[in-house]
Amino acid sequence: MKNLPQNRRQFLSKTGKAGIALATMPLISKIVPSKFISNSEYQQQPLPYAYNALEPFIDAMTMEIHYTKHAATYAKNLADACVAEKVNTETTSLVSLLNNISKYSAKMRNNAGGHYNHEMFWQIMKPAPLVTPTGALADAIAKTFGSYAAFQTAFSEAAKTRFASGWAWLLVKKDGSLAVSSTANQDNPLMDTAEVPGTPILGLDVWEHAYYLKYQNKRPDYINNWWNLVNWELVQKKYGDAILKK
Ligand code: MN
Repeated sequence: MKNLPQNRRQFLSKTGKAGIALATMPLISKIVPSKFISNSEYQQQPLPYAYNALEPFIDAMTMEIHYTKHAATYAKNLADACVAEKVNTETTSLVSLLNNISKYSAKMRNNAGGHYNHEMFWQIMKPAPLVTPTGALADAIAKTFGSYAAFQTAFSEAAKTRFASGWAWLLVKKDGSLAVSSTANQDNPLMDTAEVPGTPILGLDVWEHAYYLKYQNKRPDYINNWWNLVNWELVQKKYGDAILKK
């Protein structure tokens, strides 16, 4: 590994432009695992696409800073908090930690939520996804909200009206029904502090760091464009998993 920079330079000099394109890909080797934690749920996972894969809706620089700085910091601070607060991460799932978050510090709450939320956020986006959900999720959305368009409006409103920093959610409540909600800061519906508790299956980051470089103060434009990226295949799977647990 010590030779990586040299090898990388040689590789780039040999491959020219193709190498430069590859250089913009996320590097798994950049992720530094915590020496205290081996449970992968607590580790930042590789981004499933290149930083520029979600353009033009989310720009490459926003993705790179968001993933390598903001989200990486939540993972690191979560690891530190788990050591400080003696969480056994080998036997404690991240979901069960969130389910009991009121027993821990504000640092734990912010960073456990921050890490969980971002890991989910990268996964529930993809380039060129299905335009709308299908199957059981489509049926449940129509039943709960009246139509897909009405659901989109409700979710977008939750995202637009969340004051300051936070997230908008589509979640499966304990009775198996769907709901839209929003939470402040890095909170989420899994926390025992949530106003609308349940299992999140879709989340939208409306912190300014998620959109400001491209959209500045125009959060509604970011939200409207983000719909082009929703990985409905995965959200449908999350819905099925959440329903099965009822
Ligand atoms: Mn974020």
